[in-house]
Amino acid sequence: MSKSERTGKIQTVLGLIEPDDLGVTLAHEHSLIDMEIYLSMPEEATERWYVDQPVTMEILGGLMKRLFHNKDVVKLIDEKHQAEELYKYYLSGGNSLVDTTSIGIARDPLALTRMSRATGLNIVMGASYYVPLSYTDEIHEKSEQDITDSIIKDVTVGVKETGVKSGIIGEIGNFWPTNETSRKILRASAHASVETGAAISIHPGGHPDALLQHLNDVMEAGADPTRVIMGHLDVFRYSPEVVKEIAETGATLEFDRFGSENTNFAEGGLDIDFPSDVQRIERIEQLIDWGYEDQIVVAQDVCLKTDLVSHGGGGYVHILDSIIPRMRRRGFSSETIDKILIENPKRVLTFK
Ligand SMILES: [Zn+2]
Repeated sequence: MSKSERTGKIQTVLGLIEPDDLGVTLAHEHSLIDMEIYLSMPEEATERWYVDQPVTMEILGGLMKRLFHNKDVVKLIDEKHQAEELYKYYLSGGNSLVDTTSIGIARDPLALTRMSRATGLNIVMGASYYVPLSYTDEIHEKSEQDITDSIIKDVTVGVKETGVKSGIIGEIGNFWPTNETSRKILRASAHASVETGAAISIHPGGHPDALLQHLNDVMEAGADPTRVIMGHLDVFRYSPEVVKEIAETGATLEFDRFGSENTNFAEGGLDIDFPSDVQRIERIEQLIDWGYEDQIVVAQDVCLKTDLVSHGGGGYVHILDSIIPRMRRRGFSSETIDKILIENPKRVLTFK
């Protein structure tokens, strides 16, 4: 299929759709995922008790500060259970989601087609590579052109022999300080975006300088910044001024961890300071005041068992059930909410 046949459409795992059929959309979720790459073995004997325990009420309290010391919590691999969780989002008015599971965290194209049919949701599948922890030796050797070609194939022909096509390039995983392989992948993703017309979704490194660095890398390789979604703006410590610099380029600003308010200090874990949902909403209000309401998208980035409704989390439905009513109470207009949930995702996901 040529670029022109995708131009002006959105590509889901079940095929092309008209942008007006996208509806309410979460811009960054994981229907299925395996984040085993983040696991580490604690030194202390009693800490090791947590490693092989299933996630149950008995361990839940202690687990929240040991999320990357437990093998069960980092896996969402039960298709039937995940479909039930996704269906709650459909029942609350959801229509679509971007599944940003990329290579390295167990992307599963055929399962996504089954889950799309089971739930009635449009699912837009990701492409490209997750963070350096997940890189295989092969990727360091591969040329920029080979990586570009493989991403283009995922978008235009389909992943492996499945025939299931990616509708977005990402999440492209980065770390800070960045490295040459990550930058090569960013450039290859940019070339593939230019070639196919697909948007790019970036998981930035957790440092204020990372955002502009990644954006410059893809722009220097030819990507249009208005085709880039900068993710995790509410996960790492980015000042409002840094986010504003990104906004100035025309990139889409993604607040994608609604529902995650873990205040535990995770020793040895990632350098993450989660804001609360109220702080997330306040940051969005600030950006709207500055005039960027056409560039904001939201999600929950469900990726841990503790994120699921079945395990005490807000699940895929948290934004519709709890955040939108809160936004309305704080004075967000229906027009603004429609932009965040419908219009902004539609614009960026539509192939250029
Ligand atoms: Zn993610």
